Amino acid sequence: DADPTLRPEPLPEDNDRALRPQRLDEFIGQAEARANLKIFIQSARQRGEAMDHTLFHGPPGLGKTTLAQIMARELGVNFRMTSGPVLAKAGDLAAILTNLEARDVLFIDEIHRLNPAVEEVLYPALEDFELDLVIGEGPAARTVRIELQPFTLVGATTRMGLLTTPLRDRFGIPTRLQFYTIEELHEIVTRNARLLGAPAEDAGAREIARRARGTPRIAGRLLRRVVDFAVVEGDGRITRALADNALTRLGVDHLGLDGADRRYLALIGESYGGGPVGIETLSAALSESRDALEEVIEPYLLQQGLIQRTPRGRMLARKAWDHLGLPMPKSPGQ
Ligand code: ADP
Repeated sequence: DADPTLRPEPLPEDNDRALRPQRLDEFIGQAEARANLKIFIQSARQRGEAMDHTLFHGPPGLGKTTLAQIMARELGVNFRMTSGPVLAKAGDLAAILTNLEARDVLFIDEIHRLNPAVEEVLYPALEDFELDLVIGEGPAARTVRIELQPFTLVGATTRMGLLTTPLRDRFGIPTRLQFYTIEELHEIVTRNARLLGAPAEDAGAREIARRARGTPRIAGRLLRRVVDFAVVEGDGRITRALADNALTRLGVDHLGLDGADRRYLALIGESYGGGPVGIETLSAALSESRDALEEVIEPYLLQQGLIQRTPRGRMLARKAWDHLGLPMPKSPGQ
C-alpha cells in the first residue's frame, strides 16, 4: 500500500510540538482566515465573552487543529480536545461539557462523525449553554437541566457536506482552509528546517515545498525524510539536488504526487479511456475507501486541474494525460 509518510493523516511524529506554530503571528498562510480570526479573538477578549463557535473545514493536514490550539492560547483559556467518533454516548459529551471552565475552547475533530444522539445534546449546549440530561429509565425517567459555563466550540471537518444543517447553522464563524501556495510552504519548510537544526538552502526548501501537495503536514514529513538523506548521504545541508534525489526515491514526483495518486490517474486513463467513471468503481478497483478517495486523494488532484468531477463521474484533464505521458484520446469517454 501507499507509504504512510506521504499521506496527510496524522502520524505520531506530528505531535512534535517544536514545529507547531504557537501564536497567530507565527502561523504562515491562510491570510484571510487569519485576519478574520484576529479580529474575532480580540473582540471576544475585549468584551470578556466566549468567542463564537467556529468551524474549520478543508482537507487533512492544513492546520485546523493548530488554529484551534492557537485560538485557545490567544484567548488565554484552556484547550480541550476530542473527536466525533470518540463521543459514543450523550453522557461522554456531558462529562466534557460540565468540566469546562468559562470561555474555554472545546475542539471536536471529525465533527461530521458525531452520533445523532450526541449531536442532540450539543444543540442546547451551543445555543443556550444548557444541558438537558435524562436521568433514570421508563416511567421514573426525568429530565434535569444543567447550566454550563459559556464556551467556544471549535469543530473541524474534512467533509462539510456530511454535516447536518442544524449543526452547521450553529457555527457563527465557518472558515474554509485552502491548500497552501508554494511560497507559503517554502516559508514553512525553511522555518521547520531551522527548528530541526538542518539548514536548508533556498532551492532545497523550494523543492520540498513544490512537492508537498499544498499541505503543511506533508511538507513537515518530507522535510524529515530529506533531512535523513542529508545526514547519511550528504553533509547535512539540504540542497536542491539532494532534495530532488531523496523525494524521487520516496516515490514523490515533480507535481508532488505519490504512488496512490498516480495509480488513481492511471486507472482512469488506462482502464476507462479517461472517464467518466463513478467513484464506487474507482474505490473498488483501487481497494481504497470512498472516503479516502474523496477526502485525501481527489481534493488536490482537482485543485491542480488534473481531474474533473462531472455528474457522470470523474474524468482526466489534459494535464493528467501529459503527466502520465499518455496521448489524450480525441473525444474522451466515447
Ligand atoms: P489538520 O488538523 O487540518 O489535519 P494540523 O493542524 O494537525 O492539521 O496540522 C498538521 C501539521 O502541519 C502540524 O504538524 C502543524 O504543525 C503543521 N502546520 C499546519 N499549518 C501550519 C502552518 N500554517 N505553518 C506551519 N506549520 C503548520
